[in-house]
Order: sequence, then structure tokens, then C-alpha cells
Amino acid sequence: MTAPALVLTDSHAHVDGPEFDADRDQVLARARAAGVRRIVVIGAVGEPASAERAVALAERDPDVFATVATHPHDAGKMTADWWAVHERLATHPRVVAIGETGLDYYYDHSARDAQADAFRRFVALARQVGKPVVCHVRDAHAEARAILAEEGAAEVGGVIHCFTGTPDDAAAYVAMGFHVSFSGIVTYKNAQPIRDAARRVPLDRILVETDCPYLAPVPVRGRRNEPAYVVHTAAVVAREAGIELAALAAATVANTARIFRFPPADPA
Ligand SMILES: [Zn+2]
Ligand SMILES: [Zn+2]
Repeated sequence: MTAPALVLTDSHAHVDGPEFDADRDQVLARARAAGVRRIVVIGAVGEPASAERAVALAERDPDVFATVATHPHDAGKMTADWWAVHERLATHPRVVAIGETGLDYYYDHSARDAQADAFRRFVALARQVGKPVVCHVRDAHAEARAILAEEGAAEVGGVIHCFTGTPDDAAAYVAMGFHVSFSGIVTYKNAQPIRDAARRVPLDRILVETDCPYLAPVPVRGRRNEPAYVVHTAAVVAREAGIELAALAAATVANTARIFRFPPADPA
């Protein structure tokens, strides 16, 4: 069998979720066939069962890695028991980062104080275990940068995932040492500011992701998203960067492996 011409990494996928219960193995097989060799599964939606599922997936598949935290949407519901699960899983060898955590002042599903408190605690946990932090930030970039600075997050680094800020926000995160990850949103017609932001991120700091099952990129927008579709997002980021897709793909694979400290890949 010949290896796929293009290799990509999906740096942020929620394939642990119920949307994939019926066909998870086929979804992972399609990803591999499309060249999406490695996938970071984000175990952070709702109860820590999400974190447990992400870790279980990473334990059985050497190309799947997990993160653990409680999403800012659910920060207000976090209990001491939830926290104990995250603390235990944080040191698991297949857990490559703490996240997603952060601030979402667009939806405000949890009180802002609760979001900020959880964000600070998860950054502290990331520093404690020496792993990077995956940040979800919407309409709260200045506030998020203040917390990242106050909590010393640059010591472990991390990713601002599904970036939706301004080009200046992107540049500010890069200046702080962070990576910036682009989702299918960058392919949407009305997302010119996000494409402008992509041009402000150096090639060695850019990641691509699906954030599936939502935010499927053009031309599959509206469908359930899955890791195989990350190529469409990578193609738009490459175009904005003025480089070949293969070069963008290689850079994002290397960046993702470096920030999450993946072991060397086995030959495909
Ligand atoms: Zn998110
Ligand atoms: Zn996510």
C-alpha cells in the first residue's frame, strides 16, 4: 500500500462524543485514509466521563492522544469530584495537554467568575504536571491573556484553539509564546478577519483542527464534521500563507508534535 501523499494532524477533535458512537472506528479509519495520521481528542465536554473516554481512546490507538479538563461552558458545574478525576488523569502518559479551558464570554453558559476560576486552576494544573494548555477563548481575549500571564502559562506553553479573535489578538498570543490553531471557520465566506489573523501567525506556530463534530469546513459545511475534513481548513490556511498545501501540512504536523511532545511516529 502506498502512503497518502499528504499527512496532517487534527489538533483538536471531540471524537469521544456521542455523535460518533455509531461509527467511531470508521471515522478514525477515514481519517487515516485521508492522511490525518494523528488526532488529539479533547476530553472536556460536560462531566469528566468525556475525559475518561478520550483517555480510553488514546490508550487503544497509538495515533490518538488525549487532553483533559472541563470546558468553560461547564465550568460552573465543576465539583470537587470532577476536579479529582482531572488531577488523576493529568499525569496519564497518553494525556498530552490540559484543556480545553478558558473563557467564553460569547455564550456565557457558565458565570464569568466560575470560568476564570476554573481557567486559573487548570493552568496551575498544567504547570504542575508540565504539560501545555489548550485554550478556548471567545470574546474574551484580553481577559484570557491577562490570566495566562498572571498564572505563568508561558512556562508550559499551549494552543489558542479554534481561533476567532482579531489579527492583533493572534499576534499578541504569538508574542506570549503561544500557538494558534485554526478550525473550519477560516474557510467561511464571512471570516476574512480570521484569514487575516492566519497571516499574522508564523509558520512554526500554526496548527489546524476540526473541533468536530461541529464547524465542518467548506465544502462540507453543514455536515457532521470529522478529522478527515481537516484538509479543507489546511488548504485555506496554506493559501493565506502563500505556500503549498504540502508545506503547510508538514509545518502543522511538526508544530503539533512539538507542542504536545508526541513520541516519534512509527512508519505509516
Ligand atoms: Zn473550544
Ligand atoms: Zn473543542
